[in-house]
Amino acid sequence: MKYGLVGAKGKMGKEIRELFSSHGDDLVLEVDVDHFVERGIPEVIVDFSSPNAVPTTVELCKRYSAHLVIGTTALTQEHFELLRELGQHVAVVQSFNFSEGIAIFQKLLRNFSRLFTDWDCWIVETHHNQKKDAPSGTALMLKREVGREVPISSLRIGGIFGEHVVYFANANEVFEIKHSALSRKVFASGARKAALFCLKAKKGFYNFLDVLEGGI
Ligand code: NAD
Repeated sequence: MKYGLVGAKGKMGKEIRELFSSHGDDLVLEVDVDHFVERGIPEVIVDFSSPNAVPTTVELCKRYSAHLVIGTTALTQEHFELLRELGQHVAVVQSFNFSEGIAIFQKLLRNFSRLFTDWDCWIVETHHNQKKDAPSGTALMLKREVGREVPISSLRIGGIFGEHVVYFANANEVFEIKHSALSRKVFASGARKAALFCLKAKKGFYNFLDVLEGGI
């Protein structure tokens, strides 16, 4: 696969380059702040950078007719509008979390949160101290699945790749569901699955659950 990478110099950029090249993929476009290297036409662009990169990334996808996999967090409604519009031209996969465990976590909450209607609920997320946004995009995704107003607490400490806990509690019992990412490789691997999905998918706007369920 010929791919482009926005945020090429970042922590996720490094992880994605390593994982994709171990599968023989060809990095033909590198984009970062003050950095633009073009060696060919990408079939897919992968963006794990910053929300302010979105307009340029969308433009690049249109220029090359490249599909898009975007993992950048803290996107606003305007960013989503740009991405949905791009989905009318190519396949776009957007997720705030490209790990399979979080996709399962979402499904668990979707199906079972109603059993905890009368219980208190609280989401706690912990990430490394360089993460720029809070709460995490993943915590917001999990909150949406709980389906009611839920407080989120964010810790920014050490080198933690990403930990999410959803607590349900009543006066006598506590029930918790927890997911920990043990490395950034898990997100890079999910991004690659999404990129391969794009090559086969019809144009459209997809999430990572669509990728895992093969919903083309
Ligand atoms: P990072 O700070 O290490 O890297 C970000 C890179 O993007 C930097 O090299 C920076 O220079 C570059 N960048 C910033 N603005 C840019 C612009 N306008 N154009 C091009 N490049 C630009 O951060 P990171 O840990 O690699 O995370 C990057 C993003 O991915 C964050 O939004 C993070 O929350 C998100 N993330 C998502 C997932 C997921 O599964 N969806 C997993 C991990 C991280």
